[in-house]
Amino acid sequence: MQRASPQEFSRVLSSMCTEPHPAARAAAEEFLATNPGDPATYETVADLEREAITALAEIAGHPDAVGYITSGGTEANIQAMRIARDRGPTGGPVTSERANVVAPASVHFSFHKAADVLGLELRTAPLDDDYRADPDAMSELVDGDTVAVVGVAGSTEYGRVDPIPAIADLASEAEALCHVDAAWGGFHLPFTEHDWQFDHAAIDTLTIDPHKLGQAAVPAGGLLARSSDLLDELAIDTPYLESASQASLTGTRSGAGVASAAAAMDELWPDGYREQAERCQANADWLAAALDERGYDVVEPELPLVAATLPEREFDALREAGWRIARTASGDLRIVCMPHVTRETLREFVTDLDRVE
Ligand SMILES: *Cc1c(COP(=O)(O)O)cnc(C)c1O
Repeated sequence: MQRASPQEFSRVLSSMCTEPHPAARAAAEEFLATNPGDPATYETVADLEREAITALAEIAGHPDAVGYITSGGTEANIQAMRIARDRGPTGGPVTSERANVVAPASVHFSFHKAADVLGLELRTAPLDDDYRADPDAMSELVDGDTVAVVGVAGSTEYGRVDPIPAIADLASEAEALCHVDAAWGGFHLPFTEHDWQFDHAAIDTLTIDPHKLGQAAVPAGGLLARSSDLLDELAIDTPYLESASQASLTGTRSGAGVASAAAAMDELWPDGYREQAERCQANADWLAAALDERGYDVVEPELPLVAATLPEREFDALREAGWRIARTASGDLRIVCMPHVTRETLREFVTDLDRVE
């Protein structure tokens, strides 16, 4: 059998993951045979996980935050919803048949998985006219059985940042948990003016993924909680391991992911991420202007993600030319200006677009 090799990143414009930083790649390889799920046996990788959480907590504006490196944003979101469900509405146990979670319609599909797995009802509210959460529309869905109110800081389809302080107010009025999903946006937002993190609003839990804009190897997501009593909701006794309890959803976990997350943040926070944020945003702004000049309807890139209307014919021709591009649910072309997407790449892309007859 011929040896398989991975895809190249040169024409990948649709992914939220990117080429790992060389230091992250080296650390992943070195820690392949470790299991942070059993920290008393695999002590070095457990230390690296503590370092990674300290770094994530600083990035998210709350040095005392606690948490762990998850398999990705999906696990982090499921676990946050599990904390909310187990705490119940008003911080007490759930008394009704079915607790609910209130979120904007732009919420990532992982919340549908979370609701399904946890037996929660997911209520999604219509967005405002710029693809952001509308707190008034959300407040109409909140009731006495609401256990969590969710905001997105860097939405998957249009890269929008919800009004997190207003969403946190809503959660606190409802005595529900406030969760922010910054899985993709978290490594970019510290270099913007947006309010999105723990010291901007009364957020309880937050998802932030090193394996997206953090330049860590997959799998490395992040779940943070404001205080340890929240994370303790997840703790399960672990009789056969050397360590006594475990808060993660999965048992054996990737030490490669943990080590690469720690290495990437050690290398890049804050200056490397700042440069990356500036470069990615400048590329997104350039692409948006180039598409606009050509007469396509472009959604203003608030974060480095450009959406635009693109007819079927152009879309298919570009796919045919090897461009990895995707569409939003409503059919817009969606290009994520990740760190591997250079200006040169975007120039070639636009040149190929101009060639479509
Ligand atoms: C990517 C993403 C997720 C899911 O993360 P995975 O690592 O793919 O599980 C959740 N929320 C948002 C906003 C995302 O962009």
